[in-house]
Amino acid sequence: MNKNLSTETLCIHGGYKAGDGEAQVLPITQSTTFRHESPEHLADLFDLKELGWIYSRIGNPTVGHFEEKVNSLEGGVGALAFASGQAAITASILTVCNAGDHVLASTNLYGGTITLFTSTLAKLGIQVSLVDPDASREEIETQIKENTKVIYGETIGNPGLNVLDFEKFSSIAKDNKIVFIVDNTFATPILFKPLEHGANIVVHSATKYIDGHATSLGGVIVDGGNFDWKAAGKYPDLTEPDPSYHGMVFTDSFGPAAYILKARVHILRDFGGALSAFNAFMFHNSLETLHLRMEKHCSNALALAKYLEAHDNIEWVKYPLLENHETYDLAKKYLVNGASGVLSFGVKGGYDKALEFMKKIELISLVTHVGDLRTSVLHPASTSHRQLSEEEQAVSGVTPDLIRLSVGLENIDDLIADLDEALLI
Ligand SMILES: *Cc1c(COP(=O)(O)O)cnc(C)c1O
Repeated sequence: MNKNLSTETLCIHGGYKAGDGEAQVLPITQSTTFRHESPEHLADLFDLKELGWIYSRIGNPTVGHFEEKVNSLEGGVGALAFASGQAAITASILTVCNAGDHVLASTNLYGGTITLFTSTLAKLGIQVSLVDPDASREEIETQIKENTKVIYGETIGNPGLNVLDFEKFSSIAKDNKIVFIVDNTFATPILFKPLEHGANIVVHSATKYIDGHATSLGGVIVDGGNFDWKAAGKYPDLTEPDPSYHGMVFTDSFGPAAYILKARVHILRDFGGALSAFNAFMFHNSLETLHLRMEKHCSNALALAKYLEAHDNIEWVKYPLLENHETYDLAKKYLVNGASGVLSFGVKGGYDKALEFMKKIELISLVTHVGDLRTSVLHPASTSHRQLSEEEQAVSGVTPDLIRLSVGLENIDDLIADLDEALLI
């Protein structure tokens, strides 16, 4: 396909394209396995001498078209889908890290990623250091060790909605020859393409805006093909003979797509966590309207941020494109098409008033989710973070009054009317 198509057109035409007489819409290949006429051909597929369908844990045509669409939107050399965002993030790390390796990550991360990094990866012998992303380049570099294999951040981080300084992080990664992985879930490739700003690998929870209708769990990794594994000299799994594939060297056999092939035929093959064909179909469909949805998520969120900022019962509001946000300058620099649909605010009166507010909302739903086309709220102190002490909550940026609002696609006046009512507390 024409490489110069715009992002909007790729939302619609990237991925599946019907051939002569074929279904116009992506068919669901609901089959675990694929029939082959010759044992020699199947043997070649197993040896990766040729790429083709073998078994749906390793690849499936419907899932493949979803991968192609996301890959075209992010501008990578290949993508790989998973059953959830968490599975994708886990695989993005395990593809290049073994026991004894180290990851340097920003502190501003999704809660599930923090737990994965600090608890579960630690059990596998992979150590993760969390650094304040606003620290100076020199301070961040003091955390880099001989065995640091990954630098990790989120385009728009949780829960403060801090925009990552790509110039700083990508130059640290480049100068130290470390792969730079970015979770782009909140921004989506509509608002920001990390590969154009020095990232090497992009991960998404497709469950959020890519789905956008709160129907399906999924995740995806995109490989930028822009990291020189050989020159880095510290990724033997990609650059040295692989005994489980008759001594094949991934960088020799697959060139710039070595990482994403390795992720598929080792991590996805062995750990499972494959995306179902049905969910891939749902995502492929939803992506067709992602550009329109993100535009409206952004404009509604900015309007609500300004409305809340001016409200007497509101203590504070955080949204990257409000001038008082700590990373406002970075948001202006990187998020020129909008800062996505999530904002947070504190109600006057703290915990009790926050709960009263949560009871009074009607149009807006109380759910544990973001990125849906229905506006929703969550009060982390009484839900997702309730097992933590108030001090622990504070460390992770959760205050007793904090309410997270994921702004949907409803008419803005109806949303304001619901908030007006609920804020009579
Ligand atoms: C939700 C989320 C995840 C985890 O994705 P799941 O699909 O729920 O596993 C990871 N990163 C970010 C930024 C998220 O919002």
